[in-house]
Amino acid sequence: MSNRLFVSDGLAPEGLALLATAGEVTADSKITADALRAALPGYQALVVRSRTKVTAELLAAGPDLKVIGRAGVGVDNIDVAAAVARGVVVVNSPMAASVSVAEHTLGLMLALARQIPAADALLKQGKWDKSAFVGGELSGKVLGLLGLGRIGALVANRATAFGMTVVAYDPYLTADQIRERHAEPADFDAVLARADYVSLHLPLTAETTGLLGAAQLAKLKKGARLVCAARGGVIDEAALVAALDAGRLAGAALDVFAQEPPPAGSIAQHPKIIATPHIGAQTAEAQNRAGLAIAEEVLAVLAGREPRWRVLRNE
Ligand code: NAD
Repeated sequence: MSNRLFVSDGLAPEGLALLATAGEVTADSKITADALRAALPGYQALVVRSRTKVTAELLAAGPDLKVIGRAGVGVDNIDVAAAVARGVVVVNSPMAASVSVAEHTLGLMLALARQIPAADALLKQGKWDKSAFVGGELSGKVLGLLGLGRIGALVANRATAFGMTVVAYDPYLTADQIRERHAEPADFDAVLARADYVSLHLPLTAETTGLLGAAQLAKLKKGARLVCAARGGVIDEAALVAALDAGRLAGAALDVFAQEPPPAGSIAQHPKIIATPHIGAQTAEAQNRAGLAIAEEVLAVLAGREPRWRVLRNE
């Protein structure tokens, strides 16, 4: 019997074409949760990015599902435990976007250092005001990384090339592994105390939710800058706004938010925050890679082979 595969978020054409070699593909990147629930019986595979919420309820509506493919890395939109309990394999494509997110992180750091968005906005209003834009160099500064996995390590490598000193906290790596990834190992508080820039590259888990709250932000150097292209929810946004308003932090750049899109009039509009709409992985290269990689994973499961990137839990 031929497979039926449902793709309920946007996927690169290369990925769709590869999926089609395994069966009949239905792609609808705008389908509502209710319509997806109704459509799911008879499908063996569901492929999503971050828009579709794969809840226990949705999984229960797909009795024929064998595999959930997440094009990308974060599985916080998937109830992995519920899938595993039903014998549905969850796979992702964790490598596809790492370079793109790392480059975006560097872009956010440079944007903060030189106030590039504000300078551009002012010049577009016809104002040529060089004196308003005395920035700082990244060279010679300390970059503190929280999380030194795939993306963190690429950021460390690139920041080193910019002449930054990189210190990192990652409790799941040994000191030697941290040094191999171009960073100096440090404990959590030491990273906060030493860094001119702090950048987050850890997953959103029970342990990391609200990791940077008022007490932790108070440990940052006065005038430090914060960057987050990891996941909303790791930073307590109200505490961040308070630290910026009090002048403790010089600025922050966020690609991810607790609520996406963030409500009007909220954190994204703050004058000391540079905000981008979760575009870390939005490059042609990353999308093509993610589409192909997830198609390979889904095909492996449907063919009864062990996938390369099986996800066993939500952390
Ligand atoms: P990864 O799993 O390779 O690395 C995460 C690292 O965080 C691991 O080394 C882990 O040991 C560490 N970690 C876990 N808990 C920690 C804690 N409490 N304190 C310090 N370190 C901790 O993941 P990755 O591929 O590098 O992705 C990092 C983050 O970037 C994830 O949150 C991912 O969802 C996010 N991401 C964002 C975008 C975007 O569009 N902005 C795209 C892809 C990934």
